[in-house]
Amino acid sequence: MALAFDEYGRPFIILREQEKKSRLQGLDAQKANIAAGKSVARILRTSLGPKGMDKMLQSPDGDVTITNDGATILELMDVDNQIAKLMVELSRSQDYDIGDGTTGVVVLAGSLLEQAEKLLERGIHPIRIAEGYEMASRIAVDHLESISTKYEFSATDIEPLVQTCMTTLSSKIVSRCKRALAEIAVKAVLAVADLERKDVNLDLIKVEGKVGGKLEDTELVQGIIVDKDRMLYIEKCANSKAVTIFIRGGNKMMIEETKRSIHDALCVARNLIINNSIVYGGGSAEISCSIAVDAAADRHPGVEQYAIRAFADALDAIPLALAENSGLPPIDTLTVVKSQHVKENNSRCGIDCNDVGTNDMKEQNVFETLIGKQQQILLATQVVKMILKIDDVITPSEY
Ligand code: ADP
Repeated sequence: MALAFDEYGRPFIILREQEKKSRLQGLDAQKANIAAGKSVARILRTSLGPKGMDKMLQSPDGDVTITNDGATILELMDVDNQIAKLMVELSRSQDYDIGDGTTGVVVLAGSLLEQAEKLLERGIHPIRIAEGYEMASRIAVDHLESISTKYEFSATDIEPLVQTCMTTLSSKIVSRCKRALAEIAVKAVLAVADLERKDVNLDLIKVEGKVGGKLEDTELVQGIIVDKDRMLYIEKCANSKAVTIFIRGGNKMMIEETKRSIHDALCVARNLIINNSIVYGGGSAEISCSIAVDAAADRHPGVEQYAIRAFADALDAIPLALAENSGLPPIDTLTVVKSQHVKENNSRCGIDCNDVGTNDMKEQNVFETLIGKQQQILLATQVVKMILKIDDVITPSEY
């Protein structure tokens, strides 16, 4: 605000536009931010797992995308809330580093926010919650390491790699062809991999698509292809490792979704070559971590123990969502599986989403890479801590 005078000496006040701001402080700021983050997570929750729902998104120019890939859904949602944008970034980071687990990471962050809200209401300071979450995340990450196993494979025995890629593809729209697509992805990755140096350059794998034919006609080309009127194949070139996955399908939407699913499968195979440790999926790893983190809470005398316990509860969100999305009663199912973990000392029990008849995820061949799962926990914790530490939100007010 400034005081000025007109040509007759009459005073008037100049209100600068920048000063017309709305402001949220303290608990109100945290609650508003938590609500924004939770609403993004709620959208993705129903897409988690093999029975997860797909989302249909229309762009302003009319392009329609059908997908259940977390990173893609958020990318296309065009959110304008800053906290919601952080959740989009979160999914993107998981996609960038790992390539898989993009839905799970957001669901976990949403659940951590929900638990934090309860603690804030009980009067626990946000910094205490953030510190407790940090401790709990380290316990969970270490625990994951302790329940992980090595997944053995070689260039001649690719079946284990194929099985893992199939797990990734089983929750996608293309799951009907998961075996064939998983084999293509693994062969493509091995073609460009240096197994001794544990190095994979995914840039050497081109993923192309052309409308026509069936998904089953998708093939791996040992070279590159050029779209010049069916297609020009340039194969088996000397001194070039480049390969192309050529996707076929009935329409553009299907091809685009297949590209995204293949990307996930390629990343999973690459991650296993870089580090062949795995944990079991179907929510089993989260349940096992939840039990370990809960037990660790008792050893902390400070206020942080509430946050550590809340972190353990937040981890349950993954198996709960998997059960709910598969039409199972979530709480009953989780209770049974959790008690199995404790009684049978079996960390492989998860949610039998496909009604196979066993919830031992080893028997179901449902794995995830250790680094992928650890990254989910670390990234979700990081973003939630960041949100909790904001106690002043200043935005330009709307006119
Ligand atoms: P994300 O984008 O996070 O990978 P998905 O929709 O692909 O999300 O779902 C991944 C989750 O589904 C993981 O927790 C994984 O362990 C679980 N999952 C995948 N296949 C199965 C299965 N056949 N049975 C139970 N859980 C599964």
